Amino acid sequence: MLAPNLEPSEKPVATASTFFTAPPTSCSNQKRLRPRRYRLNCRKNHVRSLGGNDEGRARNRRRVGLHVRAKCAAAVSMSSYAWLALEFMDRADTGPNFFAGSYIDRHSDAREIPEWRAHAAADPATLYVAVCGTTQLVYREPAPRIAFLHADHPLVRAASDDQLALLGWFRGTRCMLIELDAADRAALPAGAHFEELRVVAALLPSDEAGLLAYARGLSIWRSRHRFCGTCGAALLRERAGHVLRCSNAGCGVEAFPRIDPAIIVMVTDGARALLGRQASWPAGRYSTIAGFVEPGESLEDAVVREVAEETGVAVHGIHYHSSQPWPFPASLMVGFQARCAPDAAIAVGGELEDARWFTRTEIDAGAAGLPPSHSISYRLISTWLAGTHRE
Ligand SMILES: [Zn+2]
Repeated sequence: MLAPNLEPSEKPVATASTFFTAPPTSCSNQKRLRPRRYRLNCRKNHVRSLGGNDEGRARNRRRVGLHVRAKCAAAVSMSSYAWLALEFMDRADTGPNFFAGSYIDRHSDAREIPEWRAHAAADPATLYVAVCGTTQLVYREPAPRIAFLHADHPLVRAASDDQLALLGWFRGTRCMLIELDAADRAALPAGAHFEELRVVAALLPSDEAGLLAYARGLSIWRSRHRFCGTCGAALLRERAGHVLRCSNAGCGVEAFPRIDPAIIVMVTDGARALLGRQASWPAGRYSTIAGFVEPGESLEDAVVREVAEETGVAVHGIHYHSSQPWPFPASLMVGFQARCAPDAAIAVGGELEDARWFTRTEIDAGAAGLPPSHSISYRLISTWLAGTHRE
């Protein structure tokens, strides 16, 4: 089954070999250091900054080597803004995944207040996250950030209740979703434009990326569920935009935001990692095995089935690692670690074009192009490289 964490439209991330031939344009050392020396210099400095004892330093060297390569690759592929995204790349072993965490107080009880829209309008501090189709409103200059609208903006004042939803309190301030369409572009603030989250996410502050992921997931669900699946009548938006209820009084079915659970798993045989690739991915990219959970399956069942279908490998010793909202359009990635027998034979199947075993040394040397650094797959791989993988 298609691995939802990696889609063909994803912007390619350069591999280590790309970096060796094309140093990042934002690197202040690029004029006086050769690429490889630059990488080694970064690596040494980052290891030093991490501190710790000799044992910890050896582990950090492996972890930092991966991070430095990802950081440089990000700079190559995205622009100088990529350096703003370095913050989250240093969280391989701790903290929430990108798009997750306590970036907002949802305050869900406020959705039950009938005057939710009037309260937002009366509060001049209220922030409005604007969406148009699958895109969200952002500024690119001087640095990528959300282009919030405010209560006095003509598009906000003219909006109907159906265009709005209460998201919660972001950085302590009430925050709303406002759905616009292409005809509204002319009225947008100067410099603001709609952009796909997949393209801009890694460049945003992590809490803003989380907020846009939330807004994207909610708005796509609302836009794609307009009629009752039971009787076909139109759906009405209720509870501050978070519930859709059938307008047919004889039916009255309520619909709640749809989320599609998918497993993603780092499989090892003790010494090597099992990674696969789809034909549509950028050349050389390999990632952890992933797939959607099916009806009647537990998450663990899905791990066993997906790995067997895609690679022919039987796994055991399954442990939960972490999860990540992935609103492209509605996935929740549930990350696991699992073991298999040493030297297990691979039989490629399912959606994969190839699957291979990789040692830490091979990955560290760039033998596999890694997934985007804000993805849970990257975190699962980097955790294993760092030696903190649960065996
Ligand atoms: Zn109905």
